[in-house]
Amino acid sequence: MDIQVQKVGIVSCSGEEIPEGTLCRLACRQALDERPGETVTICLPLFIAGGEEERTFAQNYPTITVDGCDKMCAAKATEMLSGKPSKSLSIPEILKKHGLTPPTKLRHFGPEEDAAVKAVAAEIAQAVDKVLEEA
Ligand code: SF4
Repeated sequence: MDIQVQKVGIVSCSGEEIPEGTLCRLACRQALDERPGETVTICLPLFIAGGEEERTFAQNYPTITVDGCDKMCAAKATEMLSGKPSKSLSIPEILKKHGLTPPTKLRHFGPEEDAAVKAVAAEIAQAVDKVLEEA
């Protein structure tokens, strides 16, 4: 019997210019660490630059995109280059849902930003579970 191991690709936006971009990357990292066998990271710049491995993966496996602002770069790039993401998450929406204020630091997040990182990572992990359930 073939057992197909399902994996989900997580595509984080690469926003460097706003704190939500940093939050996005840190939360994605945390979610990847929490779901090691079920998730892989897809590097957005490499994906856009034509990384064959990234694009092929995203064509064949479900993806979850996580974006720092309403420009939704990761969601748009994934849809354009490989196919519609299974879920597209937005940091402002997640923060609003959890009643959290957006971070103000561009980098060097500390304990003050912990709640936001954890909330976003938990939303990503939940989205992974849901996508795998539906697969
Ligand atoms: S979604 Fe927003 S924060 Fe992320 S890369 Fe695009 S413009 Fe930057």
